[in-house]
Amino acid sequence: MRRLAGQAGLGDAVIINSCAVTNEAVRQTRQQIRRARRDNPGAKVVVTGCAAQIDADAFAKMTEVDAVIGNAEKLDPAAWTALAASRMRVAVNDIMMVRENAAHLIDGYGDRARAFLQIQNGCDHRCTFCIIPYGRGPSRSVPIADAVAAARRLVAAGHAEIVLTGVDMTSWGQDLEGAPRLGLLVGAILDGAPDLFRLRLSSVDCAEIDEALFDRLTGDRRVAPYLHLSLQAGSNLILKRMKRRHTREDAIALAAALRARRPEIAIGADLIAGFPTETDAMFEESLGLIAEAGVNYLHVFPYSARSGTPAARMPQLNGALIADRARRLRAAGEAATSAFLDSLVGHIDDAVVESGGRARLSNFAPVRLSANSIGAPGDIARLRVTGRDGEIALGERLDA
Ligand code: SF4
Repeated sequence: MRRLAGQAGLGDAVIINSCAVTNEAVRQTRQQIRRARRDNPGAKVVVTGCAAQIDADAFAKMTEVDAVIGNAEKLDPAAWTALAASRMRVAVNDIMMVRENAAHLIDGYGDRARAFLQIQNGCDHRCTFCIIPYGRGPSRSVPIADAVAAARRLVAAGHAEIVLTGVDMTSWGQDLEGAPRLGLLVGAILDGAPDLFRLRLSSVDCAEIDEALFDRLTGDRRVAPYLHLSLQAGSNLILKRMKRRHTREDAIALAAALRARRPEIAIGADLIAGFPTETDAMFEESLGLIAEAGVNYLHVFPYSARSGTPAARMPQLNGALIADRARRLRAAGEAATSAFLDSLVGHIDDAVVESGGRARLSNFAPVRLSANSIGAPGDIARLRVTGRDGEIALGERLDA
């Protein structure tokens, strides 16, 4: 967006890429817009992203806003040119009609340490708490050849690690000819970019892991031994009310199967606390899942009703109960992470150095490096884990 705006002569514009995931995110977006207008009186303020896509009129009505651009239009040079010529104030089309594949996503971005490669956008599911499909539209995939070429470019530019991302990444391929599965793409990237040091997957849906993906995850050393599962709840009834596509037993079985084949694999997970109708017993099932699935890193989301979603019309729990359950889940997650980091003391691994004297092990454990052993971001460092400080491991370089 920055590049397209610059090419259209709008290098000074303030672009707000809005988030719609909760009502609070939308409220904060509006606040940011007002602040941007105050701080940049002469510049054009352009709003795009999911909140703008879902409710363009509400943003267009704000006097601080010069233009609203939809999620598909924001990557279209013509939309920016039209905006520069002041011919357009609102350019937001029906994202549900967007069908073109996502090849234009594929430049990749990141810092020296890690590049992100978006291989998929949009989502065909309708989880009852989630507004994302209305902002991002139907699932679209980047064709294999484009993804491999982009991975090669990122490696040539010096990135040691590539993280594959997408809104619903495991549905990659469903809109392409022959409906290939994600495992095929992962294999093609690894084979097509032989100098890539490490490939990491972002969040996956445990109901959608194909056999080839499982084989690569557990059998290919260049794939990071780390998987982030979108679990959301540990109660089958809640999972059903969320319209998720896995059960508690599926999640536990998947984690066990991954570890049986690759014991060093670490597992991250998302859980929502206090989904509508969640009883104490159902909550205990979410809490228990952390240990049963052996979750090492946990992201907890206190449920907040998003208007426009089916879950917002279900019987809600009170805020204090939701906050208390979120706190208990977080405490259990922190204990699991601490125990995991403790188990790594003495462990030797190749880590990618990040900024600020930190590095990440292949299993995604963050490590703070001792002062005399810090390398430059993007370096591959052979490390020994020497201890732990809260939620971060301590380490020393063996090769510096
Ligand atoms: S899979 Fe569910 S939670 Fe994820 S983007 Fe799609 S609808 Fe939202």
